[in-house]
Amino acid sequence: MNYDTNNIFAKILRGEIPCHKVYEDDAVLAFMDVMPQADGHTLVIPKAPSRNLLDADPATFEPLMVAVQKVALAVRRAFKAEGILIKQFNEPAAGQTVFHLHVHILPRSEGLELRPHTGKMADHAVLAQHAGLIRTALGD
Ligand code: AMP
Repeated sequence: MNYDTNNIFAKILRGEIPCHKVYEDDAVLAFMDVMPQADGHTLVIPKAPSRNLLDADPATFEPLMVAVQKVALAVRRAFKAEGILIKQFNEPAAGQTVFHLHVHILPRSEGLELRPHTGKMADHAVLAQHAGLIRTALGD
């Protein structure tokens, strides 16, 4: 399967559609998931193009996972989470719906159920507020 340069995350990387950004460096971008399964649900994507983990250049993984750890720590602090769930899907049969490699960061706490994976679009004002909390935690 080929990489489609018109996938939604490629458009976000090119600045063609907006996102609620929490972190960016030379290699990665992190932003709020618009259909969050939990408050604080964040996505981290490499800037290098690949459909998913299976076709990615292995050089992608070090900066990606360094950023995942950095953002996960900030999400944990911002949402006072007891734990962090990391998810990553490869191809439709495994649940992938956007075909640019991405890692989900989900804050978890005992007794708080996750919302469905294909849930409803969150209020943009709320996403903007959550992104602000994470950016503040990144700066701490
Ligand atoms: P998956 O490919 O199944 O790992 O999930 C893709 C994720 O991207 C889903 O959780 C969607 O809610 C999320 N998503 C889709 N479009 C956007 C967008 N424009 N901005 C932020 N997140 C998005």
